[in-house]
Amino acid sequence: MSSPANFPILPGTVDAAGRPATLGVMGGGQLGRMFVHAAQRLGYLTAVLDPDPQSPAGRVSHHHIPFGYTDVQGLAQLAGLCAAITTEFENVPASALQTLAASCPVAPGAGAVAIAQDRIQEKSHFTASAGVAGVTCAPYAVIATLDQLQAVPADLLPGILKTARMGYDGKGQMRVKDAAGLAAAWGELEQVHCVLEKMLPLKAECSVIVARGWDGRTVAFPAQRNRHVDGILAVTEVYDGNMPSGLAERAQLATESIANHIDYVGVLCVEFFVVDDGSEHGGLVVNEMAPRPHNSGHYTLDACDVSQFDLQVHAMAGLPLPAPRQHSPAIMLNLLGDLWFDAAGQPRVPDWPAVLALPGAHLHLYGKLEARPARKMGHLTLTGPDAASVKATARQAARLLGLSGFEGG
Ligand code: ADP
Ligand code: MG
Repeated sequence: MSSPANFPILPGTVDAAGRPATLGVMGGGQLGRMFVHAAQRLGYLTAVLDPDPQSPAGRVSHHHIPFGYTDVQGLAQLAGLCAAITTEFENVPASALQTLAASCPVAPGAGAVAIAQDRIQEKSHFTASAGVAGVTCAPYAVIATLDQLQAVPADLLPGILKTARMGYDGKGQMRVKDAAGLAAAWGELEQVHCVLEKMLPLKAECSVIVARGWDGRTVAFPAQRNRHVDGILAVTEVYDGNMPSGLAERAQLATESIANHIDYVGVLCVEFFVVDDGSEHGGLVVNEMAPRPHNSGHYTLDACDVSQFDLQVHAMAGLPLPAPRQHSPAIMLNLLGDLWFDAAGQPRVPDWPAVLALPGAHLHLYGKLEARPARKMGHLTLTGPDAASVKATARQAARLLGLSGFEGG
């Protein structure tokens, strides 16, 4: 993609119309908030579009535009303020990005976001692009009609039925054992377009985050090893030896190919499964992509010399993309709203002083006013001189917080 005429957008400058260099983001959640922090640190003004007056990013941004994502007035205000715009959640209507792109550079573009929003398109894209690294999708079938439901091959069962659109954090998915269970599950999902994936024997899960510029140059973070609990990311571990050798390199190669294939601009995260296929290290299967920074990349704020949010800022503004270097082994623990309640369901405040006394503990809370079970309230990254000490501190932190999901294995 050729770079827009106003590039690079230099922080601390004023354009011909007298506007200070301002970067915008669609969505005001925690990813938007950490993007805003990175942009502001570099000297940009920021603008957030999110209907929620209390949104985590809106509350720390120079401008907060409290309109819906397809509201013409809100979109016009955002485009009027900003020299470039990005997004922080993948379910932002692709049409809104298209509207913005008519008057303002938008990265990633509406086309890439539209692919990530639809598992059917996403899988076609992976099939076309990830093969270079010998990476395939889980065996699957599209279920959009009754005929397709009835034609599902028996060897896809047991499987997971996933809605093609609007799923996240395990929502919009049902595990099914047999044909009768599949039919019932599709009914329960109101017969929307779905994919049925074969249930795979997972040895591990990982993700790779890359940033790609308007000039097509790509830089990558090391592969993150992820553990999910109830479909939600619980733990990310990043240090030498976190992944079977050879797989991390292949995951990175596949991710770069996935980005290149659609001329992607911005930060992209691709999730993979390491599957028990009888081989020594296991096979690599590509799961899904997020057209934005990712929860599994939050450790980069504290363990790398440049974070995923810094690179999002650089990419959208046409600044150079320095190759990130991880300077410390890291473990990130997600802090869900459950921690704000005791065993009897009574509200409590987690023991922050004890956690903050741990060496290499970096606490990030997102400024959400109300804790709810399963709501992402913050994360804690532990860094240290070596993997063994980081695991020990993470175990201590998990114990202090009453967190399950990390036994430090
Ligand atoms: P979401 O969009 O909610 O993150 P995913 O497709 O990533 O949805 O699924 C959430 C989690 O469910 C995965 O991280 C993995 O732990 C499990 N999972 C998903 N698909 C499969 C599969 N085909 N086989 C085994 N486990 C799966
Ligand atoms: Mg996922």
